[in-house]
Formats: sequence, C-alpha cells, structure tokens
Amino acid sequence: MSSAIDRIAEWAAQAQRGVAFTGAGISTESGIPDFRGPNGFWKRNDAAKFTFQNYVADPEHRKERWRQAVEGRSFMRSDVRPNAGHTALANLERAGAIRGVITQNIDGLHQESGSTKVLELHGTAKKIGCLDCGERWPAPVILERVVAGEDDPRCTYCGGILKSATISFGQQLPEDVVEEAHRWSLDADFFLVVGSSLVVSPANGFPIVAKRRGAKLAIVNREPTDLDDIFDEVIHDDAGPTLTAIVERLEALSPRRPL
Ligand code: NAD
Ligand code: ZN
Repeated sequence: MSSAIDRIAEWAAQAQRGVAFTGAGISTESGIPDFRGPNGFWKRNDAAKFTFQNYVADPEHRKERWRQAVEGRSFMRSDVRPNAGHTALANLERAGAIRGVITQNIDGLHQESGSTKVLELHGTAKKIGCLDCGERWPAPVILERVVAGEDDPRCTYCGGILKSATISFGQQLPEDVVEEAHRWSLDADFFLVVGSSLVVSPANGFPIVAKRRGAKLAIVNREPTDLDDIFDEVIHDDAGPTLTAIVERLEALSPRRPL
C-alpha cells in the first residue's frame, strides 16, 4: 500500500492545473507564530483591538502598532527567512505540479523562496500604503521615519494615514485576487492545503470548490481541521519535512520534470 506522501506525489506528477493553498502554519518553521495554534498570536493579543476601524479612529492604537513594528514585533520584521516548506512549494511550481500558491499569509516568504505566482488574499506586510491616495512604499522606508521620531507617520503627498498593506479585520479582501483564487480552485485537478486551520472565509471555501470539480485534495497540517473529512489524503505533521519528502518523491517519479 502506498503511503500518503507517495499518493500526493503521484497526484502532483499527474497534475496539469495543481494549486497550493497556504496559511500561517507554513511560516511557523521560519519563526513566525501562527494565529490559532498553541503559541498563536491570539493567545497573546486581544483580537478585538486589531480592527481597521480602530486603526483609523485611534491615534494611540496606531502609535502602539508602529512601536511594535520598529521593535520587530510585527509582520514587518525583516529578520525572517523562508523555510524548507516554502522552498518545496517553489519547486512544485517550477516542476509544473502547481500553477502557483494562494496564500493567507502576509509575510512575503513565498516570493522570497522563488514562487513566482502568489495570490495574497490578505495583502502584504512588505509594503506600507496611504489610506487616502493609495501611494505605497517598501516597509523599511516608513519604519526608518518612525525610528527617527515620527510616532504616527503620515503620507508625504497628501497627509493621509499610513498602514501596512495588509487586510485587517473589518477591511474588504481585494476582489480581483479573490476572484482569481476562485478561478484557480474551479479549475484545479490537484489542491494541496498547507498550514491552515481553514476556519476563515473565503479560504475554507476554496478546497470545497476544488473538490466539487473533481480535484484530488491533500492537506498537510499539524492539527486536525473541521474540513479534514473532505480531503483524499490528510497528513498531521510539520510542513517543511513533509513537503520536502513529497518533492523528493516527485523527482523520483518524473525525472523529466527538472526542479
Ligand atoms: P491559523 O493560525 O488559523 O492556523 C494555522 C494552522 O497551521 C494550525 O492549524 C496549526 O496546527 C498549523 N501549523 C502550525 N505550524 C505548522 C507547521 N510547521 N506545519 C504544518 N502545520 C502547522 O492560520 P490561518 O488559517 O492562516 O489563519 C490565520 C490568519 O492570520 C491568516 O488569515 C493570515 O492572514 C494571518 N497570519 C499570517 C501570518 C503570516 O503571514 N506568516 C502569521 C499569522 C497569522
Ligand atoms: Zn497619500
């Protein structure tokens, strides 16, 4: 009987329109805590404070967020590197086993590891934007201003409030990105979820859409999720070593798809 890793590698080898979907769990091995795991962000922070409305309305909240950012206590920190899981997904794209990655993450680590097609449902912490005129800067440019003494930096063009280019609670997801992710899911023949508790919508809808269209579904997640039953293969283990094993198996199966 073939193992789960063998089966997933076989689906990857056969896939024409494979898709990977990732959540915070793929980045914990890079040292970024997830939200709902045992050491998750919500165990240490009050989720109710982190709304878009609160950010816009309360200068003290903004100052606290900028302080956190310059102290490296936010997703804007620059000392984190992609891990084996990110690298494996970049290799799956290169091999043609997946067309790209749909991610809930905002850390930019997929792109840094070599993935070229990344749909960021929740935006990116690598950029900071003006909420009024839409101008954007690389995060370090604005963080330098905070370090230099601006505790609530404003847009140099229009004076608007600046905020990391991520989607906060109470903010709309980018419609075009969600639509493309939906199209990929409708089209998928292989759908691989990695490191997501699958409790946030629309994220948890994508595997269901793919399943309905006949895709092979696999999930690699440390803990069980409420959707485990719909998956054809479920692996409760760490993303890095598991995805590396899948890629190694794929290489053995299809030597003509060089990685
Ligand atoms: P989540 O925190 O709800 O769930 C993460 C899941 O990953 C958990 O079920 C956990 O068991 C699993 N996990 C943790 N480490 C793992 C590992 N090494 N290998 C395999 N599985 C592992 O994450 P979510 O579903 O992505 O929802 C969290 C939301 O918070 C997202 O919308 C995202 O925008 C944001 N977030 C992003 C980051 C990031 O960018 N790195 C980090 C935390 C939260
Ligand atoms: Zn502006």
